[in-house]
Amino acid sequence: MGVRKESIPDIETKEQYQQYQKDVAAFIEREGLSFLSTGTDSVPEDDGGNVDPWFSGRPCECCGCTLGGNREYLFACNQANEIVQFEICEDCVYFVNYDTLYDSTMIRIVNKKS
Ligand SMILES: [Zn+2]
Repeated sequence: MGVRKESIPDIETKEQYQQYQKDVAAFIEREGLSFLSTGTDSVPEDDGGNVDPWFSGRPCECCGCTLGGNREYLFACNQANEIVQFEICEDCVYFVNYDTLYDSTMIRIVNKKS
């Protein structure tokens, strides 16, 4: 099975999307992160590089989403200049890379009559 491109079931309105953006920004602020990366080509496989997404029921460490789903590693640099690692959901992977959510989610948000 390839990477699933599903939209987030619990984000349907602009308000919820704004809340999502806030949650992610708060996470980055709280952890003092910079140089966020999910492209782990530079990381050896033993250290979590290039692993396939895996299913987990644990909450996403970035947006706090509690829905079970695929998780991937997020690597970033913290205030102490250390590389830190988090397990985040695929929506956050996409968001960190492209600063937006899947098209299907965005289209649903735009089309939603409030
Ligand atoms: Zn997430």
